[in-house]
Amino acid sequence: MDLGLAGRSAIVTGGSRGIGLAIAQALAAEGAQLTICARNEDGLVEAARLIGASSPDAGDVLTVACDVTVAEDCQRLVAAAAERHGGIDILVNNAGASLRGDDLDEVWRGSFELNTLASVRLMELARPLLARAEGGGAVVNIASIFGRESGGSAQYNATKSAQIAMAKSYALEWGADGIRVNSVAPGSIAFPGGSWGRRLEENPEEMAAFIDANIASGRFGRPEEVAAVVAFLASPRASWVVGATVNVDGGQSRSNI
Ligand code: NDP
Repeated sequence: MDLGLAGRSAIVTGGSRGIGLAIAQALAAEGAQLTICARNEDGLVEAARLIGASSPDAGDVLTVACDVTVAEDCQRLVAAAAERHGGIDILVNNAGASLRGDDLDEVWRGSFELNTLASVRLMELARPLLARAEGGGAVVNIASIFGRESGGSAQYNATKSAQIAMAKSYALEWGADGIRVNSVAPGSIAFPGGSWGRRLEENPEEMAAFIDANIASGRFGRPEEVAAVVAFLASPRASWVVGATVNVDGGQSRSNI
C-alpha cells in the first residue's frame, strides 16, 4: 500500500533514538521530508546518518537541537521546519519520559511540561501550517498504555492521560480545519540503550517473568512496530481516523476501552 506520504513535511520530536528514530525512519522510507529534534546535538547527527542510510533516496534530514519544554525552542523548531520544507503537514509529538526524583513539585511540573504541555504547544504553533497542508494535516501524539489505564508512576500515568484527553479535544475542535489529531499508546518497547533494553540486559530473568505476567504476545515490542502505526495514522490512508488512541502493545493493556 502506498501511504501517500511522498514529499510531505514531517516533524518528529525526540527523533534521535528509540521510538522517535524509528518513526522518522518509517516516514523517510515513505518519502516524507523530515525534521527531527532532541536536546543532544550529537545524537541528532547520528540519527540523521541512520535515516540517510536506511532511506538513501530521502532528502536531507533537518536536525534542530532544542528542548520541547522551552517555548522559544518550540517556536524555533516549527519555524525552521516550515522554512526548510515549505510548510508542515505532519507533527509527531514523541519526546516524553517517565521522570523521577525527590522534589515533588519539580517531578510533577517536569512531567506535565514534557508529556503534555510540549505537545499542546507544538500543536498550537503548527496549527496554521497544518491547516494549509494539501489534503489535510495530521498530528500523532505518542502517549502510552499507561495513559489509558493504571500503571507506571503517578506523574507519568496522569500526564500521559492528560496528553490523550487533550488530543481528543483538539481532534474534535480541529476536524473542521482538516487537521486530524490521533494518539498512539505503546506498551513496553525494548531497544538497545532504552529503559527496557537496559533492564533486559541487566536482569534477563526478571524481565522474562515480567513478560510472562504482562504481555500476551510473550515479548517486548520493537520501535518499528510502533512506527508503522504512526506512519499509517499520519497518512491520508487514515483519513477517517480522528481523535482515536491506538494501542500498540502486543496485548499488554487490560482496559476494555
Ligand atoms: P527515549 O528516552 O529512548 O528517547 C526519547 C527521545 O526524546 C530522545 O530523542 C531524546 O533526546 C528526546 N527528548 C527527551 N526529552 C526531550 C526534551 N525535553 N526536548 C526535546 N527532546 C527530548 O524514549 P522512548 O523511545 O522509549 O519513548 C518515546 C516516547 O514513547 C515517549 O513519549 C515515551 O513516554 C513513549 N513510550 C515509550 C515506551 C517504551 O517502552 N519505550 C512505552 C510507552 C510509551 P535527548 O535526550 O537528546 O533530548
